Amino acid sequence: MERLIWLNGQLLPASAAKVSVYDHGVLYGDGIFEGLRQYHGRVFKIEAHLRRFCDSARAIRLPLVYTAAEISAAIDQTLAANQMNEGYVRLVATRGRNDLGISPAGATESGVFIIAETMRMYPAEMYRDGMAIITASTVRTAPNAVSPRIKSLNYLNNILAKFEALDAGVPEAVMLNHLGNVAECTADNIFIVRRGVLATPGEDAGILAGITRGVVLELARGAGLPVVETNLTRFDLYVADECFLTGTGAEIIPVTSIDQRAIGTGKPGPVTGQLIEAFHREVRQQG
Ligand code: PMP
Repeated sequence: MERLIWLNGQLLPASAAKVSVYDHGVLYGDGIFEGLRQYHGRVFKIEAHLRRFCDSARAIRLPLVYTAAEISAAIDQTLAANQMNEGYVRLVATRGRNDLGISPAGATESGVFIIAETMRMYPAEMYRDGMAIITASTVRTAPNAVSPRIKSLNYLNNILAKFEALDAGVPEAVMLNHLGNVAECTADNIFIVRRGVLATPGEDAGILAGITRGVVLELARGAGLPVVETNLTRFDLYVADECFLTGTGAEIIPVTSIDQRAIGTGKPGPVTGQLIEAFHREVRQQG
């Protein structure tokens, strides 16, 4: 059966769901998006995702045609229409149609669409044995340029770093920020464990404030683990006892090699394992 796409209030077969070539989302990456997960029929952390979506919209001065409540209902409607119980949701808003100039003034038909897909995670053996990553030479967008806090449709910065990862034969790359500190990966946040302390770059380091990152910080604090949000350098990554990435799609995935150097014992560590278990419990409880 063909997927049904929610587009501006209508459910359409995927082949009929179209965006104009004059939409500035297409012409200039002028738009925003969210990626959400559905577990056991319920969308995980929907409020946090919708808050971030609305914040992204405000940050790029995109007036949303729908309220958060309407978007939430539309997501449920899309998942139900596609008979999805364990899905991935892509929510997108574009500036809309305009002439070819970059000016957003006078744009019409700002589009909101929702795609529901089945989930594709990293291969199971990476969750068991850990993932190898590299540090990219592509620097993360500076927070005083297009803030990485905005989940904008322009992911070129991350895509260029992703190319570096793929060239190196690994699935992810860490980007440093404009100051040379660790920011985040192309689609995941990064954590390390060193002498029992969980550390991750702060939101001011030039990162997307990941929803999964927030859940992991909460779970770690709840479990009594010492946690710091602080500047990290490549040195900190190389001498870490453990490292893992977080993201809506990836959940929590252990990293066991960075730039061909083994991290810790070269195997996923105990704190990572403890947090993965706690995360799975959280997902089962909250769905
Ligand atoms: N950083 C970037 C650049 C991302 O695109 C994402 C989302 N895939 C993340 C971090 C992780 O955020 P979340 O946990 O909200 O999915």
